Amino acid sequence: MELAARLGEITPSLTLAVDTKAKAMKREGVDVISFSVGEPDFDTPAHIKAAAVTALEQGKTRYGPVAGEPKLREAIANKLQTDNQLCYGVDNIIVTNGGKHSLYNLMMVLLNPGDEVVIPAPYWVSYPEMVKLAGGVPVILPTTIESSFKISPDQLRQAITPKTKLFILNSPSNPTGMVYTPDEIRALAEVVVEKNIWVVSDEIYEKILYDGAEHLSIGAVSPESYDRTIISSGFAKTYAMTGWRVGFLAAPQPIIKAASMVQGHSTSNVCTFAQYGAIAAYENSQDCVKEMVKAFAERRQVMLDYIDAMPGITCPKPYGAFYMFLNISKTGLKSLDFSNTLLDNHHVATVPGVAFGADDCVRLSYATSLDNIHKGMTRFTEFVQSQM
Ligand SMILES: *Cc1c(COP(=O)(O)O)cnc(C)c1O
Repeated sequence: MELAARLGEITPSLTLAVDTKAKAMKREGVDVISFSVGEPDFDTPAHIKAAAVTALEQGKTRYGPVAGEPKLREAIANKLQTDNQLCYGVDNIIVTNGGKHSLYNLMMVLLNPGDEVVIPAPYWVSYPEMVKLAGGVPVILPTTIESSFKISPDQLRQAITPKTKLFILNSPSNPTGMVYTPDEIRALAEVVVEKNIWVVSDEIYEKILYDGAEHLSIGAVSPESYDRTIISSGFAKTYAMTGWRVGFLAAPQPIIKAASMVQGHSTSNVCTFAQYGAIAAYENSQDCVKEMVKAFAERRQVMLDYIDAMPGITCPKPYGAFYMFLNISKTGLKSLDFSNTLLDNHHVATVPGVAFGADDCVRLSYATSLDNIHKGMTRFTEFVQSQM
């Protein structure tokens, strides 16, 4: 069968192979500890679920406005003002089927064939593939453990060519947990303004921070950076709502209008009653977020203690999200071999770094119970010792 040429460029998800095997092993009764999941292990807070149930009962079950329920767009605008010092009106916001869909919409409306998009590595798996689906060309900027997986302003400046359209910034980062400091964000904003490119700031983990780390949105640095910024975010990670599929894009009106047109011909509005859950998430107490972050912080410390005690394995301290990105090069294994052997012999599932553009690393998620972390990290340590 001949499929569309645009698929030729797309890499199948390498993370899936290990994950599929881990799930098959679990089904067969093997006691697999999974550090590979990319979502909170908590249930959605009760008041958010209740708001969606009420909306269902009130008949919020029909088509709604393509760009989202006005009440939700208003709640998002208020949140961006209060939390991020970003001034957006309702017309600057489109509600999308998750943060992933908001980025996909953006690529569709912003990129022409051949347009370059600067992406620091390690990157979230979908960024380069989305760019390619839209006909763009990903330009990958490598980082090292020594730079804490951060790019420098000069690196960004040098990567920009006359074809550069967009820079994708993700802080806190999936997969590394890295967080740019406010000063570092200001320095990157300067380059964005100087070179007059767009920046999309994927802020989906902005609330999941540790040890006093601060999140500054690049759009809040100056009026000039605001003009060139697009915000992509959502409810999945902060409120344990991954299955709800609610996210948003905030941007200058022409971009939102265009994204609404694309969305109007593809998915239409996000599930109406799910949007009412999202309204409840923003309009009520944020204590549920604090509690989840507190639990993540404790797990992070436990996992870090195991890693610090493991000779040969290095990992810059992560200040956000719920991932650790470990350099495993001293074991002599490439990431896919490492993850596969660890799963086969010690029944611990991880995500090979090659999926994120870093073949000498693996990603561990600590969005799992302390019991699992103790058990899994004990096995992980045994495996690493056996390889040294
Ligand atoms: C999870 C995630 C998203 C979006 O997830 P949705 O479930 O689509 O809201 C976006 N960016 C990064 C880096 C993520 O990890």
